Amino acid sequence: MTITLAIHGGCGVLPRAQMTPELEREFRQSLRASLEAGWKILNAKGSALDAVEAAVVVMEESWVFNAGHGAVFNAGEGHELDAAIMDGETLAAGALCAARHTRNPIKVARAVMEKSDCLLFAGEGADAFAQANGFELVPQSYFSTDWRRKTLTEMRALMAAGEAGKRASEAQKHGTVGAVALDAKGNLAAATSTGGFTNKPVGRVGDSPIIGAGTYADNATCAVSATGRGEYFIRKVLAYDIAARMKYRGESLDAACDALIHKELMETTWRGGAGLVAVDRAGTVVMPYNTEGMYRGMVSASTPLQVAIYDN
Ligand code: ASP
Repeated sequence: MTITLAIHGGCGVLPRAQMTPELEREFRQSLRASLEAGWKILNAKGSALDAVEAAVVVMEESWVFNAGHGAVFNAGEGHELDAAIMDGETLAAGALCAARHTRNPIKVARAVMEKSDCLLFAGEGADAFAQANGFELVPQSYFSTDWRRKTLTEMRALMAAGEAGKRASEAQKHGTVGAVALDAKGNLAAATSTGGFTNKPVGRVGDSPIIGAGTYADNATCAVSATGRGEYFIRKVLAYDIAARMKYRGESLDAACDALIHKELMETTWRGGAGLVAVDRAGTVVMPYNTEGMYRGMVSASTPLQVAIYDN
C-alpha cells in the first residue's frame, strides 16, 4: 500500500493551439500548489479527507479552474456552485449544490458531512448553512473573471448560430476540480467542486455533488472524482459503477474506469468530453479521459510529484 494523492482540474482543457506559455505556467503552478497542499498533510500521516479537501481548496481559489473563483457563468449571468466530499472509511458524505455565495464549497461540504445529519444542501439553504457554520460568504462578483465572461459571450454566439455542438471547445463548455487520496491508515477519500457548464440554466445541478455519480469513495474498492457532462454521469451512476465493478466482478480499477470512460459513455447518444481520477486501496492511480487532455497530477510515497495537461 502506497499513500497517494491524485487531482484533476477538469477535462475541459484549452485546445493546444490556444494554450500560451503564460497560461500553461499558471495551470501547472496551480496543479502543483494543490498537490503540495494535500501532500503536506498525507505525508505527515494526516487523513485522506483532510488531503483532498486541502487540494481542492487551492484549485477553488485559483482563477484558471472552473470551481470557486473563476467558475463559469450560467444563463442568468451568475454562478452556481456544486461540491461534494466522501469518506471511504465510513461512507459518510457531504455536499452542496447551486450555492451562490459560498467562497469554498468543498469546506462547507465537509461541514455538512460532519456537523449536520443531512447530506446535501441546495441553493439558499446551502449558503445559509455555510454562514451559520462560520464559513466565508462572498458576493457573486468574487467568482467572476473576464476570461469566463468572454467565454459566455462566445458560447452564446455559437449557440445562436446553431454551431455550439460542432465548434465549442471543451474549454468553452465546462470544467471541474477534484481530488482522491489514500492515507497511511488505508482510508480513501474523494472530493469534487465545480461551476458546471457555461450558460447552464439557472438551478441546474450536475454530477459533482451527487454521491455515486461524480464523487464516490469506499475503502473496500476505490475513490473517484469525475469531470465531464454531469447529466450522463448521473444516468450511468458513474463513480459508483466503477466501485461496483471492482466489488462484484473483481475488476481492476484500471479496467473498471476504462470501461466507463472509453466504452459505456461512448455507447450513449452523447459523445462529449469525460475524464476522472481514481485511486484504489493499494494506491494505484488511474486518470483516464477521452478529450485532448485533462489538467491533472499525482504524488505518492513512490512517485515524485508530477503534473500534466495533454497526452504524454
Ligand atoms: N461535471 C461537471 C458538471 O456537469 C462539469 C465538468 O466536469 O466539466 O457540472
